Amino acid sequence: MSNTVSTEGTLYKGSCHCGFAKYTIRLDFTKPPPSLHGANATRCNCSVCHKMGTMLTDPGDDGSSTFTLLTPAEKNLGMYAFNTERVRWFFCPKCSITLYNRVHGVFEGVEVRTFRVNVLTLDEKEDGSPVEDLKSLKIKYWDFKEVGLPMAPLDAPVNGGVW
Ligand SMILES: [Zn+2]
Repeated sequence: MSNTVSTEGTLYKGSCHCGFAKYTIRLDFTKPPPSLHGANATRCNCSVCHKMGTMLTDPGDDGSSTFTLLTPAEKNLGMYAFNTERVRWFFCPKCSITLYNRVHGVFEGVEVRTFRVNVLTLDEKEDGSPVEDLKSLKIKYWDFKEVGLPMAPLDAPVNGGVW
């Protein structure tokens, strides 16, 4: 892990709906990390993703060099932890919008540490230009409801209902 601040890609501003939570994140949609299997973002049909309706992307690190939570401090966000606390979702405690998640723990003998941001909470690029239209992004679909890991995400929505 590096504490060096990344300068690759584009700096985006993001926020919840009410503006209580604000962040910046550096993403490069032209070079998605291997975890996204060629997609820019993924949806998932697992029990929590389905109900939250999030669309997640991976900045390629654990957030330490790409993500800055401007306000509030993370401890003042809402946090929903499940799966024996290994999966933690962070959301605005005022308007409920889910911003990102952190996964850290051992899954079937393998240590996993990931960071994913909800691309639906991106507002604009640092220079004020608009975020890429979601239609231009490559979206893939995890079937965690029925398949789980290991697998690659699919090109079309899967049973259990993500669009
Ligand atoms: Zn809010």
